[in-house]
Amino acid sequence: MMGGPMHRMMQNTEEEKAANNMAVVRRLVQYLKPYWLSVLGAFVMILVTAFSQAIGPLLIGRAIDEFITVGDRTGLARIMLMLFGVYSLNLVGMRYQIYWMNYAGQNVLADLRAKIMKHIQSLSLQYLEGSEAGDLMSRLVNDVDTINTFFSQGISQMIGATFSLLGIVIAMFSVDWRLALATLAIVPVMLLTTERFSKMARQAFRRTRTTIGDVSADLQEELGGVKVAQAFNRTEENVSRFTERNAANRDANVQANAVTSAFAPAMDVLSTIDTAIVAGFGGYLAINGALTVGVVVAFLQYVQNFFRPINTVAQLWTVAQSAFAAAERVFDLLDMEPEITDAPDAIEQPEITGKVVFDNVTFGYDSDLDVLRNVNLEVEPGKMIAIVGPTGAGKSTMISLLPRFYDVDEGTLSIDGYDVRQVTQNSLRTQMGMVLQEPFLFSGTVMDNIRYGSLTATDEEVIGAAKAANAHEFIMRMPEGYATDVGERGNLLSLGQRQLISIARAILANPRILILDEATASVDTRTESLIQEALDHLLKGRTSFVIAHRLSTIRNADLVLVMDHGEVVERGTHNDLLRQGGLYMDLYNRQFYVPQEETSKEVVGQNGH
Ligand code: ADP
Repeated sequence: MMGGPMHRMMQNTEEEKAANNMAVVRRLVQYLKPYWLSVLGAFVMILVTAFSQAIGPLLIGRAIDEFITVGDRTGLARIMLMLFGVYSLNLVGMRYQIYWMNYAGQNVLADLRAKIMKHIQSLSLQYLEGSEAGDLMSRLVNDVDTINTFFSQGISQMIGATFSLLGIVIAMFSVDWRLALATLAIVPVMLLTTERFSKMARQAFRRTRTTIGDVSADLQEELGGVKVAQAFNRTEENVSRFTERNAANRDANVQANAVTSAFAPAMDVLSTIDTAIVAGFGGYLAINGALTVGVVVAFLQYVQNFFRPINTVAQLWTVAQSAFAAAERVFDLLDMEPEITDAPDAIEQPEITGKVVFDNVTFGYDSDLDVLRNVNLEVEPGKMIAIVGPTGAGKSTMISLLPRFYDVDEGTLSIDGYDVRQVTQNSLRTQMGMVLQEPFLFSGTVMDNIRYGSLTATDEEVIGAAKAANAHEFIMRMPEGYATDVGERGNLLSLGQRQLISIARAILANPRILILDEATASVDTRTESLIQEALDHLLKGRTSFVIAHRLSTIRNADLVLVMDHGEVVERGTHNDLLRQGGLYMDLYNRQFYVPQEETSKEVVGQNGH
């Protein structure tokens, strides 16, 4: 599944490309269906424009041959009036074809964005964790934008130009086929030139898109990981990698521009040659009396009008190409099946008491490597389970099975007697709360962020939860209290504050089962004890699974599970385990050795070696 986008980028053959374009176009057309009326309107306007462009030069030709040369003033005035009408029609046609097409296009985009949003939420963590978040962002923002450009200025002009061309060609042949043939002799040359250019442009634009993806992934990573980078003294390397990627993107853009900007002058040269052909050959025919001067003038106009739409199509072709590529990537994303789906006959999980049973559970992220092996565990409602073990032992994996972020490979996981695969994800997850190390806050107010736990909660209930979570005090000290905007991803708050808010959120949600990944990062002692107190409050009476780093938590736990290499190797209370003198005792000695065990701050650090 993860191979999708990369794989797509590597396929190159022209036929595949064309087939893909067709498939993408067909899908985009599906999206246009609800707006067929404005599409139809745009199409009618396109025909009007094409017609007026074909007819205009003919009227000028007639004016010369039938009225100017014989001195018929009223005839001339009449035909000029007609010409005025035709050109007005042309203007109206252009205006409305763009307007209506744009209307449909913007609606399609809005639909597409809504669909993407909804889809992302249904995707498994596996996908979201696996792809660089920055690349995903770049894909959504840039690609939707590129499709937008195509809809708002590309598509109607392209179709319009094609029809204008058709109209002009028909008009030329109906007036004089010899001159028409001579004029169109240049078309093969033009097509070859265009083909070459668009090939180069396609390659250049593909490079700009992949390189901008790298750049924004870098930026995104940098923003998220600036502290880590500084701590590990990696800033130099990061900066130089970024400089490289940034330069690659610049070069790709410069090159893409070089290609596109050379196209118009090349077409100008061809247009000039064609004008000369018409004037020369047309003049020769006129001298021989084979056609009239008016026809030659009309053809001169056609040549001008002929190159304009071709220019338009060729230029927009590159826009279209990148829109197709963008749409393809968006569709790729939309096509990703969520790994975890509700069973067709899934039922609503009834209100639970919080009994959890792992029955011989085996699970691996990849089919060939088990991360959890034969895990057996029975937890009565309201009990607290502390999970300890070295890094990579499978602690996080074990708790991520509870909300069914992943499905077990063997065995069953059941809650209150229901296999988690039997019930809807929604009914399951709403009865579970999670408090993770890096609490996720949305941009929005503090109030919104807490209310996320229970959307129907009143302001008073939110404040009550904040009080229970020891968050009320610091919230009230902020400039706008509960109405304070937390900034993107909660960047304005300290880690400790974000944790208190996420605890408040969990208290508000009032779940029967709680999943907690105790923070390892140290916060100041006062916040630490506030958090501790809030957690005690939160955990009371709920079934809880805690990846424990604090000795006090482990001591309070009803059961401590010691995990190693995906297996539960020891279990019991803190004291039982110490007496057994196994891995637990080892870990304990390494991590929690504090001369005075009862010191207020017992956090010693990350598990592991
Ligand atoms: P712990 O929480 O005990 O540190 P984890 O459950 O995070 O351990 O990891 C257990 C094993 O599973 C590790 O070998 C880790 O590399 C692997 N693992 C964790 N998450 C993923 C994932 N999303 N995809 C693939 N492998 C993973």
